[in-house]
Amino acid sequence: MQSELLMLRTIARPDKQIILPPVIITEQAQAGGWYVEPERAQILIDGRCYPLNRGLIAISSSAEVDLDNVLAHEYRHHWQVMNGWQLDSVGWNAPGLSYKQKIIRYFSRSKSEMDALLFSLPYATEDQALEWQEWLIKEKELKGKA
Ligand SMILES: [Zn+2]
Repeated sequence: MQSELLMLRTIARPDKQIILPPVIITEQAQAGGWYVEPERAQILIDGRCYPLNRGLIAISSSAEVDLDNVLAHEYRHHWQVMNGWQLDSVGWNAPGLSYKQKIIRYFSRSKSEMDALLFSLPYATEDQALEWQEWLIKEKELKGKA
């Protein structure tokens, strides 16, 4: 828990005016991470109630998670909301598409997801993030030629 908070503070250092959300690690996290926007409500995760007044970042406890990358991605959504963005994720549910097609669809159709991806890339330690970026750049080049 301590190291996640330290990392979050490091990532958020240039944004002194932004109040940071708590970070929790849970088996319930969808995908690698999950961001909940601030609201006057509470959320129940792993039998514990968390206030959402500062928002919340939930990170998957799965060992496969590229922690700094996911933290940076979810923090960027917090930054976006604090700066008046509307989160416009198209969601992951697209039956019939391959994993690669889903990734391309997910990031290329959403301004907030693409921005979070680009923001988090410098924190990525796994090749996967670079592979996603490559897919997206190639897709853009193909569309540019068409
Ligand atoms: Zn996202």
